Amino acid sequence: MQKFDFDLFVIGAGSGGVRAARMAAKNGMRVAIAENRYMGGTCVNVGCVPKKIFMYASSYSETFTDAIAYGWQGQQSADFNWATLRDNNAAEVSRLNKIYRNLLADSEVHIIDGRASVLEPQKIQVGEQEFSAERILIATGGWPFVPNFPGREHVITSNEVFSLDKFPRSTLVVGGGYIAVEFAGIFSGLGSETHLSYRRELFLRGFDKDIRQFTKEEIEKKAVKLHFNHQIKSIVKNLDNTLNVQSLDGNHITVDAVLYATGRKPNTQGLGLEELGVEFNQDGTIAIDTNFRTNLPSIFALGDVIGGPELTPVALAEAMALVAHWTSGETATIDYSNIPTAVFCQPNIATVGLTEEEAKASGIKVVIYKSEFKPMRYTVSGRDERTLMKLVVEPSSDKVIGAHMVGPDAGEIIQGLAIALKAGATKKIFDQTIGIHPTTAEEFVTMRG
Ligand code: FAD
Ligand code: NDP
Repeated sequence: MQKFDFDLFVIGAGSGGVRAARMAAKNGMRVAIAENRYMGGTCVNVGCVPKKIFMYASSYSETFTDAIAYGWQGQQSADFNWATLRDNNAAEVSRLNKIYRNLLADSEVHIIDGRASVLEPQKIQVGEQEFSAERILIATGGWPFVPNFPGREHVITSNEVFSLDKFPRSTLVVGGGYIAVEFAGIFSGLGSETHLSYRRELFLRGFDKDIRQFTKEEIEKKAVKLHFNHQIKSIVKNLDNTLNVQSLDGNHITVDAVLYATGRKPNTQGLGLEELGVEFNQDGTIAIDTNFRTNLPSIFALGDVIGGPELTPVALAEAMALVAHWTSGETATIDYSNIPTAVFCQPNIATVGLTEEEAKASGIKVVIYKSEFKPMRYTVSGRDERTLMKLVVEPSSDKVIGAHMVGPDAGEIIQGLAIALKAGATKKIFDQTIGIHPTTAEEFVTMRG
């Protein structure tokens, strides 16, 4: 008779939890996973996937206009139907939910639908049921954070934005991070009069300064009204259901919807971890050692709930490393340097490695290569959109230590460069690489000045 019901009990079937459960089961462990909301977690249901679908939807408005100069008549459509997009997205998400469930079932992971909490270091409760497990993995992700202020109840977050009953004719997005700039582009492209409110002087803090400034200029060209050094004081609902947003500078904006994108907090409420004495970091993330183990030896955690880069590929990498650690006994090593990332604003941003400011702050002397131009697609259509590409090079080693881009398909291009940076490619190797012509990407191997 087995001592425990399961070798591993995973709480949360999101990016990290599903990957860990499947990999552990494939390695012969008896695995259960509990999920109380949606299979696939944030990324599949209210994150990466629907966001990209909505971004594609919003980009059509410009494509219709560009097409006219290429000879396509009668394609311009001002008649966007929100319900079609919303429902087609929901259908796609539901298709993915089933795929995730099947992937788990096919891997012989025992699926438990319901909210789990940890009763004892090796005991879990889901509803009326109790289970024992040798190891418990907390992969419960994060949850949108909305600060406290009068009228907070009127705002929506990324949890609600994909399923609104009505498309807002005007929208205020609050925040200056990934979600705020992505949704400013989405709403604007879909035809909503869009405002973005950010509390400091320039959004996208942490990205390369040139990239932030260039993105600001490009987003402004797309008629998004940017309000920097702007703080919300209160929101009042008018009789016609519009929202009157008062800011600390004494001004107000009236819009149909306010989307708060002011960060996410770890999803640990009601898990029973405080009661058991699990240690947390100051920001509320779960404290772990290099092998994702909490201060209780049978409880592990990974993904957004432990902080670090809140990105799906990071949660996946952590899951793979943890299972490899369990099966091989070797330390779960993850290299958190050179993680490429994209912001799917319009135009897209993508980046890998150090920003110019980070390199200088760590005492590295840098040589900067930049190229700014109008992408070929827009030369005929005349669209006023430019692309910026930037390389940060350390002259002492000649290594490319940062690559940054604002422009169409930036994520697709930077993903390839991330391999080069990971491999330690020098600027000489970039220069020796033959370009693919005519592409935007070839600029990265032809920058000489
Ligand atoms: P999650 O995917 O959040 O999964 C946690 C799961 O745990 C959830 O399903 C939750 O319901 C479940 N859960 C929580 N508590 C319990 C409980 N007590 N019992 C049972 N189940 C529980 N990342 C990218 O890399 N690229 C992107 O383009 C991107 N876009 C994003 C867009 C938006 C709008 C958002 C919000 C996020 C985006 N992200 C993106 C981030 C990405 O979604 C997360 O980094 C990733 O989902 C983290 O995975 P995770 O496994 O840690 O948690
Ligand atoms: P971010 O952490 O990226 O940005 C939060 C923004 O909100 C910052 O600009 C921050 O300002 C601002 N803010 C924080 N608190 C307040 C407050 N009290 N009042 C006003 N403004 C405030 O979070 P997001 O919500 O945009 O996204 C969460 C995470 O999800 C991201 O960090 C990212 O890891 C992930 N994600 C990834 C995506 C991708 O890969 N493409 C897309 C979407 C999300 P300040 O700069 O001053 O701190």
